[in-house]
Amino acid sequence: MTMLSGTSFPVVQATLPVVNDPTHLPDHLLSRIAHKHASLGLSPEQYEIVHDNLMWAIVDVLGDAVTPEVAAAWDEVYWLMANMLIHKERGLYSAVRLSPETVWRTWRVAEKIQETEDVVTFVVERTDEREVKPSLPGQYVTIKMRMPDGVHQPRQYSLTRADDGRHRHFAVKRVRAQDAPDGEMSNFLHDSVQVGDEVTLSAPFGDVVLEYTDRPLVLASAGIGITPMAGMLSHLVKSASQRKVVFLHADDSLGSFALRDQVVADLKALPDASMSTWLLNSEGAGGAHGEMHTGFMDVRAVDLPDDAEYYLCGPVAFMQSARTALIAAGVPVKDIQYEVFGPDLWLADYQ
Ligand SMILES: Cc1cc2nc3c(=O)[nH]c(=O)nc-3n(C[C@H](O)[C@H](O)[C@H](O)COP(=O)(O)OP(=O)(O)OC[C@H]3O[C@@H](n4cnc5c(N)ncnc54)[C@H](O)[C@@H]3O)c2cc1C
Repeated sequence: MTMLSGTSFPVVQATLPVVNDPTHLPDHLLSRIAHKHASLGLSPEQYEIVHDNLMWAIVDVLGDAVTPEVAAAWDEVYWLMANMLIHKERGLYSAVRLSPETVWRTWRVAEKIQETEDVVTFVVERTDEREVKPSLPGQYVTIKMRMPDGVHQPRQYSLTRADDGRHRHFAVKRVRAQDAPDGEMSNFLHDSVQVGDEVTLSAPFGDVVLEYTDRPLVLASAGIGITPMAGMLSHLVKSASQRKVVFLHADDSLGSFALRDQVVADLKALPDASMSTWLLNSEGAGGAHGEMHTGFMDVRAVDLPDDAEYYLCGPVAFMQSARTALIAAGVPVKDIQYEVFGPDLWLADYQ
């Protein structure tokens, strides 16, 4: 079990908590996985393939320890999870009148906007007159690209603007690594995908979305975690929302704060919105919009509105620390939602 626990294979991730505690069905985790699967166009038949390969891997790793009883137990828990996911995914596809085969659509890159040194916004436009599926505030799309080695790679990117019926906007941070290979898709998109090129995107999915209420809203992000927050703000402006919005963001410097102009313009367009920014390097930040702080985000510096909904996005360490501070400040756990940009979902949910 320990040997498999490092995997980022979603259905295996979902299986582990159930094996540890069969009374606990991680519904929240399953919902996130089902949304990601739908954005990848997964079909029920593919669960059989995963099952066969997983069982092969279990026997390969555990050897003689896999008695018929152990194999049967793995089989049972796998299909328990898989059937729940298949059921949820069927619901997600039918809610947007799509099937695993029709999730994908071709778009043309209309604009590439250099937001910061490391972040580029892609504006893509539809290539035919078919209806563009609407997105909910906070959702993402999967982009599927054929890499130079011939392998098709999929990655998710949050939508940064509300729908206009013709375009999608998403912002990609170039992933540079010191002791590991650079990020494959992000660098490929930055360096090799140009205006006029065609790309394949899924319809929007994702369950960390704004609820349609009048409650105050606190959006807290760090770094590239700004993207779903920018998308949410854009939806609020488009719907002429009257909600109170408190916008909190942490970044290295003003120069690395992607989508800042868009976010500031949207906050100014809302009737009751404020902004606080934390910068590790606040040089040259005097006069920028909102309250400025130096250092890591500290939510205690902010007057948090009563009965607010909270959305967090950023590195897992940021979200864990912000969530802990909010809970200590009396915010009910049920009012805090967060988006995770990677396979750290399981850690974020269970630590
Ligand atoms: C719901 C969701 C929304 C997202 N929204 C956004 C968004 O709006 N904007 C955005 O920029 N990103 C977003 N992401 C993240 C995005 O999907 C990609 O994960 C990100 O762009 C990195 O992809 P990549 O192909 O460049 O990196 P990958 O090639 O997938 O590499 C990821 C990491 O693994 C390391 N790595 C790769 N190979 C090895 C190896 N052999 N050994 C050790 N380490 C290795 C790399 O150095 C890198 O740090 C989102 C993710 C999710 C799940």
